Amino acid sequence: MHNKVNHVYLSLGSNIGNRASFLNQAVRLLSQNCGTLMAQSAIYETAPWGLLAQDDFLNMAVALDTALLPNELLAAVLQIETSLGRVRTEQWGPRTIDIDILLYGTVVVADKSLTVPHPLMHERRFTLQPLADIAPNVLHPLFKKTVTELLLLCPDTAAVSKVTA
Ligand code: ADP
Ligand code: MG
Repeated sequence: MHNKVNHVYLSLGSNIGNRASFLNQAVRLLSQNCGTLMAQSAIYETAPWGLLAQDDFLNMAVALDTALLPNELLAAVLQIETSLGRVRTEQWGPRTIDIDILLYGTVVVADKSLTVPHPLMHERRFTLQPLADIAPNVLHPLFKKTVTELLLLCPDTAAVSKVTA
């Protein structure tokens, strides 16, 4: 039996090397391996979050229609991270590419290896601002607030500035 197509939102970030190139390569690999690219946000330059002594990030959000199950999508994004040279050292540390699953339709997942909606998305301006480009009215299935509402409520004051349309 085939899994039905689900509308998912992902957050992409890079702060090593040619950051824009890593984002572009990740978008291409996601559309090749994970589903149909439905929308992509502008690219934003953002101050580091959590671990402050590192270079600024470029961040963006994308929407995909995917037939992959949540755990299959996670495996695919981790594989794309590895193929783009990601090496895991410290939590929240520098990376060529980070791909986080923000929303998977209205599905809620609480596994050891996967939490959806992403547990920190509402606390991160660098996640919400790009997501608001492509999903302003999408509802967070637990908080029952739209992305726009979450952005207005977000306490994060770190700089997030648009670098491309
Ligand atoms: P972070 O994104 O917090 O910097 P990593 O990218 O190193 O951390 O991810 C660590 C682990 O987080 C992944 O191996 C994955 O199993 C887990 N994880 C849990 N929920 C999610 C999610 N919604 N999206 C992506 N990874 C997730
Ligand atoms: Mg991640």
